[in-house]
Amino acid sequence: MSMDFPQFRKLEGAPNLYIIEGPKHVTEWQPMGDGKWVVHQHYASDYPRYQWVTELLQGDDPVRALTADAWEALYRERSEASADPAPGRMPWPPMRSPWQEEAAVGPLTTFGAAGHAQCLAEVASDADVRWALEDRGELPLMVLGGGSNVLMHRDWTGRMLHMNIRGVQKIADDGDAVEVVVGAGESWHAWVMHALDAGWNGLENLALIPGSVGASPMQNIGAYGVEVKDRFAWLEAIHRETGALERFDAERCAFGYRDSVFKQAEKDTWVIVRVAFRLQRSAALNTHYGAIQAELQTRGWDAGTTHLQVAEAVMAIRQSKLPDPRDIGNAGSFFKNPVVSKEAFERIQREHPEVAHYPAPDGKVKLAAGWLIDRAGWKGHRRGACGVHDRQALVLVNHGGATGAEVWALALDIMADVESKYGVRLEPEVNQVGL
Ligand SMILES: Cc1cc2nc3c(=O)[nH]c(=O)nc-3n(C[C@H](O)[C@H](O)[C@H](O)COP(=O)(O)OP(=O)(O)OC[C@H]3O[C@@H](n4cnc5c(N)ncnc54)[C@H](O)[C@@H]3O)c2cc1C
Repeated sequence: MSMDFPQFRKLEGAPNLYIIEGPKHVTEWQPMGDGKWVVHQHYASDYPRYQWVTELLQGDDPVRALTADAWEALYRERSEASADPAPGRMPWPPMRSPWQEEAAVGPLTTFGAAGHAQCLAEVASDADVRWALEDRGELPLMVLGGGSNVLMHRDWTGRMLHMNIRGVQKIADDGDAVEVVVGAGESWHAWVMHALDAGWNGLENLALIPGSVGASPMQNIGAYGVEVKDRFAWLEAIHRETGALERFDAERCAFGYRDSVFKQAEKDTWVIVRVAFRLQRSAALNTHYGAIQAELQTRGWDAGTTHLQVAEAVMAIRQSKLPDPRDIGNAGSFFKNPVVSKEAFERIQREHPEVAHYPAPDGKVKLAAGWLIDRAGWKGHRRGACGVHDRQALVLVNHGGATGAEVWALALDIMADVESKYGVRLEPEVNQVGL
C-alpha cells in the first residue's frame, strides 16, 4: 500500500476523530465533553485490527476522509471549553518557538565534551517531530537520544532534536508472548527493568546499557550474548524529508554487529519514534557467558535463577568493569571489535598466540579490540584531559574539560599504533558529530 501519511478521518454520527499515522498505526481522539480528549494509540498487531485500519483508509461509509484543515477545525470546535493543549499531540496551535538558541549540549552527552547546538528542541510526540522537521528546514538536522554514543567534535551548526517521546504500551498478549510498544525517548535501562517487573522476559542481559529506546536499533545494541535484534518486533520512524511515518520490520532494519540500515544506506534519513519488542514470560535464560555464571555462583543463585537475578548479575559485572559516566565522561566502547578473515587471524595468532578472539559468522574471527589496545600499551594512558580507562582499554575517557578534537586525536593515534603492530584497522563505534 503506497499512501501519504498522516491521513485524517471521522465517523459519521460519532464524535471521535482519527489520524491514520501509517498503514498499521491509528491515533483515535475521543472527546470527553469538557473540551478535553482521551487519545488512544491503535497498532495493527493482528489481522482484525489491520482490517480496521484498511477500512478507515478506504474511507467508505460511514468513514469520512478529511483534509488536515477540516480535521483541525473539528478539533478546535470541540476543544473550545479547554485551554489545555491536547495530550500527546500539539500540532495546533503550532508550538511557539520551542527552539532553545545556542544550547549547551555537552551536558546532554555522557562524554561531556563541550559543544553547542545552534538550536535545540525537545520533541515529545510525532507531531512535535514533524513540526521540528519543517521549521527552520534550511538548517542541518541531528537527532540526540541519551547522548551515550556520541562525541561532539565541535558546535553543531543546525537543529538538534532531543528525543522525549514517552510511553510503554502492551499491544498483544497470548498468555506467554507479549508485544510491547515503547516510545523512543524512554530510558533503555528503565524500560528493561519495567519489562522484568511485568514478567516480560528476554532483555535481562541488556540491563544498564545507557541511552534511549529509540537509539537501541541504530547500532543493534548488544551485551552478554543478546542483541536488540533478538527481541525486536518492529519500529516506526518518520522520514526526515517527507514527514511520512513508516514501519520497519527486522529485515528492513538490516541488523548487523553494532550496525543497522540506519547507520548505512539510510543514515540520517529517519527519526525513530517508537520501537516494539516481542518478549516472553517463559524466555530461556542466556547465562552462557563465563562472567555471568561466575557472578551467579558468587551470589549462590546458580540453581533456579530468575530473569531478574540475571539482570542483577549483569548490572554488577558492568559496574565492576565499566566506568560510570556520572563519575568520568565516556561513551562506553569507543571502538568496535574488528572482524577479520581466517587467514588474517592465523597470521596474527602466529605472532601473538594469546590473542583474544571469538568465532564470527562466515568463518571469520572477531578480535577483542580491548586486548589489542591493552597489549599495544595504551591502557591507563593519559594525555591532557583525556585518556584510556585504566581498567577497560576499549573505553576512552574525559577526565574533565577534554574537547572532542583531543579525544579524536588520541583515538587516531591508538588506531595507527594498533594497525602498525597487528595489521588490524580499528573502527570507532561511537558516532562522531561534526568531524
Ligand atoms: C558506560 C557505557 C556503556 C555502554 N555499553 C554498551 C553495550 O554494552 N552495548 C552497546 O551496544 N552499547 C553500549 N554503549 C553505547 C550506548 O549506550 C548505546 O549505543 C545506546 O544505544 C546509545 O543510545 P543514546 O540514546 O544515548 O544514543 P545517542 O548517543 O543520543 O545517539 C547515538 C546515535 O543514534 C542517533 N539517534 C539517537 N536516537 C535516535 C532516534 N530516535 N532516531 C534516529 N536516530 C537516533 C544519533 O543521531 C546518533 O547518531 C555504552 C555506552 C556507555 C556510556
